[in-house]
Amino acid sequence: MTTPSTDRLLITNAHLLHPESGEVTDASWLEAADRRITGHGTGRPPTVPDGVPVLDVKGATVMPGLIDAHVHILLTTFDRAESASWTPGYATVRALKEAERMLRRGFTTVRDVGGADHGMARAIEEGLALGPRLIHGGKALSQTGGHGDIRPLGDDTAPCCQTRPAFARVADGVEAVRAAARDEFRKGAAHLKMLISGGVASPHDEVSAVQYTDEEIRAAVTEAEHHNRYVTVHGYHPRGINRALRAGVRCVEHGNLLDDETIRLLVEHDAYLVPTLVTYDQMAQFGKHAGLPERSYRKIADVQAVGLTALERAHKAGVNLVYGSDLLGPLQTAQLEEFTLRAEVQPPIDILRSATTTAARLLNLEGEVGTLAAGAHADLLVVDGNPLDDIRTLTRPEQNLRHVIRCGTPLAVAG
Ligand code: ZN
Ligand code: ZN
Repeated sequence: MTTPSTDRLLITNAHLLHPESGEVTDASWLEAADRRITGHGTGRPPTVPDGVPVLDVKGATVMPGLIDAHVHILLTTFDRAESASWTPGYATVRALKEAERMLRRGFTTVRDVGGADHGMARAIEEGLALGPRLIHGGKALSQTGGHGDIRPLGDDTAPCCQTRPAFARVADGVEAVRAAARDEFRKGAAHLKMLISGGVASPHDEVSAVQYTDEEIRAAVTEAEHHNRYVTVHGYHPRGINRALRAGVRCVEHGNLLDDETIRLLVEHDAYLVPTLVTYDQMAQFGKHAGLPERSYRKIADVQAVGLTALERAHKAGVNLVYGSDLLGPLQTAQLEEFTLRAEVQPPIDILRSATTTAARLLNLEGEVGTLAAGAHADLLVVDGNPLDDIRTLTRPEQNLRHVIRCGTPLAVAG
């Protein structure tokens, strides 16, 4: 809502989970007003005037809402023939419905890295649609024939993704990259996504293929810095990723095939890595059934097995790790399963920080989201059980997630 609100909320009888310290407090209260957290403590809760709702959570855990830093709310199908007949309006309605489902799973902030626009973020912000805080980057930049150039091989028409519900736009050469970056920032992008290697979902390129030159990446980084924003890159292979990190990008998506030099550069540049293990896991299991093209399906094996090892190496080296799911189409229902996969190599507190405090830092929203600190947005989860004992507490919202609270307003969760 854009109208000012004096809404207040008092939560009592809670265990407060603070991801920064890993502390869980007993018999605690938390108060919110005007959509923000105003305070919390243990012992006797403050008295509030009649009419202020009091939510007695009866010993449940209250924690900051989750952040997923790699989503594509616009990509709600694998079926390109079908989506070719969608209007932008229809695609947007589907996207916003997807956003609502994310909120109901416990994600109160998502970073969209290809497809979502300022109109969708505005619709959610104004309460026209229910959804997480949507940090959008507009369309990702792809070179001709790159991961975002989705034309069939027989299509010789010029690439044009500006009016279609696409996740990327094609820009070749320093000047075109500069212009496209400026255009996305003009339209309110909070970050710029660049596709610097082949991908799994794009059937015609190889994951080890390098896309874009150093000069083109540097042009994007310069534009981002001028706008006080940053560049994040889709990349798998060190051939592409390491050059991008040297060129000044702040964040790497996927990174499955990273090497020692990638890790050294990530640490040295204080850059971020957003692994997205769940998307390969889900595509391998259900991709064929969900309509993933055969040529994409065959590429999953190139990245799936090494993804967990890459995460483990990055974790041990102290890389800034952020939660990401990157699920497409009907597979988006598995958004929480990234927690389960990461639990094989990371302790619960580190995984939780990747979806709260570290993600907030990447999004330049430190102190605003991913924390229970006074002054932060009152985006909260009320959960039965302690995710620090078992991170899978979060993966079964139908059993454990009692409330999602967005900007101080509790949302009833089905189940
Ligand atoms: Zn990607
Ligand atoms: Zn993606």
